[in-house]
Amino acid sequence: MDCNVKKEDLLTFFYGECEEGEQERMKEHVATCAVCRRELDALARTQALLRAWPDEAPRLDLTFVEAEVPRRRFRLMAGLAAAAVATVVLFLAWPEFELSYRAGELDLKWGEALVDEPPTRTEVLATQESTLASVNQLLRASEMRQQRVLDHLLTEIQAQRYRDLQLINRQFEQFDREIYIHLRRNEAPVLELLPATRYTNP
Ligand SMILES: [Zn+2]
Repeated sequence: MDCNVKKEDLLTFFYGECEEGEQERMKEHVATCAVCRRELDALARTQALLRAWPDEAPRLDLTFVEAEVPRRRFRLMAGLAAAAVATVVLFLAWPEFELSYRAGELDLKWGEALVDEPPTRTEVLATQESTLASVNQLLRASEMRQQRVLDHLLTEIQAQRYRDLQLINRQFEQFDREIYIHLRRNEAPVLELLPATRYTNP
């Protein structure tokens, strides 16, 4: 169970953005670490759900209210910006803890290990806080990723535009050459025509 890989590093590995050697090292570690594998599975599920989530305009009148804390389980209605979170299963340092978002409701569950000891209000608030922090971290990672994709697309578009301009340029040059050849071939008749033109256009 001992694993000291930081969540940020795992996230970086998940997106395949570690430094060259680091990516390999993480891969080897993950192959033997159940803790990391579980987190990676959860990340993959979250990502799949986020991808499947349709785009919607975010609500602008979003307010957070402090929910009452019943024992063992509570539901927190939160009109979170829909595009933000589909189902987030968080694997905090706290074992047997699960938070999921389904059909417009946040659902917070404690597993069997904690059945006899319902969390105190302070613990719940602390959990909410770290949960939000984790969600924000996922969102930031997602935003950064989207930005990189956009940057990449922009570069591609610029490169394509440059290639198109070069192609057009080559075609113009070709056209020029053909005109020139054509004129050379017909130079004699053109020269013959020139004096006549002078006469008719004083
Ligand atoms: Zn690990």
